[in-house]
Amino acid sequence: MPYLKNEHKQNASSHAVVIGSGITGLLTARVLVEHFDFVTIVERDELPELPEYRQGVPQTHHVHILLTQGQQILEQLFPGIKAQLEKAGAPSIDWVSDFTTLNMWGWVSRTSSELVTYTCSRVFLEWLIRQRLSNYQNLEFVTSTLFKGLLVNTENQVSGVKLHCKNSTLDTELTADLVVDASGRNSQLPKFLEDIGYQVPKTTIINSFWFFRT
Ligand SMILES: Cc1cc2nc3c(=O)[nH]c(=O)nc-3n(C[C@H](O)[C@H](O)[C@H](O)COP(=O)(O)OP(=O)(O)OC[C@H]3O[C@@H](n4cnc5c(N)ncnc54)[C@H](O)[C@@H]3O)c2cc1C
Repeated sequence: MPYLKNEHKQNASSHAVVIGSGITGLLTARVLVEHFDFVTIVERDELPELPEYRQGVPQTHHVHILLTQGQQILEQLFPGIKAQLEKAGAPSIDWVSDFTTLNMWGWVSRTSSELVTYTCSRVFLEWLIRQRLSNYQNLEFVTSTLFKGLLVNTENQVSGVKLHCKNSTLDTELTADLVVDASGRNSQLPKFLEDIGYQVPKTTIINSFWFFRT
């Protein structure tokens, strides 16, 4: 497996594992590289060399909008990423002047604002972030590998993950000081916690108060 060969990892005294290389996993890993000697992102898909569709994120085909706050956070974590988007041809949109918005109080007046983002496909944005992350020597991607359970130590604390590499019949294990599940809405984590004797955490539903009047 590729992660066994990484010399930075072998010398690391702290290790974080992030499950999933969607936008949450990528940004989480970017934050963790500053706090852990080594970070491993585990992804079930083979990650494409080019900005291309992959099966693990089926919603990719839909139009995606990167909101202003999201872009500002991206710029903080990856300085210069806005310039990279612009250079790649991503058009900029002022969400107040370039868009017409109708809400329950009527049409919003169109005026120039600071709510400006560069728009691009989701596959391109994730690809660009992966390129930027590849500059960190203390981070690796382990791809075509499925997260399938949690390891526990003698004190019943989570101490790593059980993995299944799709190209092998063997399961494997990866120890970690921190495990972050960023595997998306179909996460198996509640089941995996139950498997090791923990209670399933309560679900928190956040109401965004978006609605449509008929
Ligand atoms: C139709 C549609 C339109 C949307 N439009 C927008 C939009 O315009 N703007 C916006 O900001 N948001 C939009 N969203 C929401 C956005 O897609 C999600 O918020 C976002 O994808 C969540 O990212 P994530 O990284 O948490 O999860 P995901 O994108 O789902 O990524 C999860 C990752 O984990 C991997 N994975 C899953 N299980 C395992 C496993 N067992 N082992 C290893 N890897 C695993 C997957 O392959 C994937 O790479 C839209 C969603 C939908 C459905």
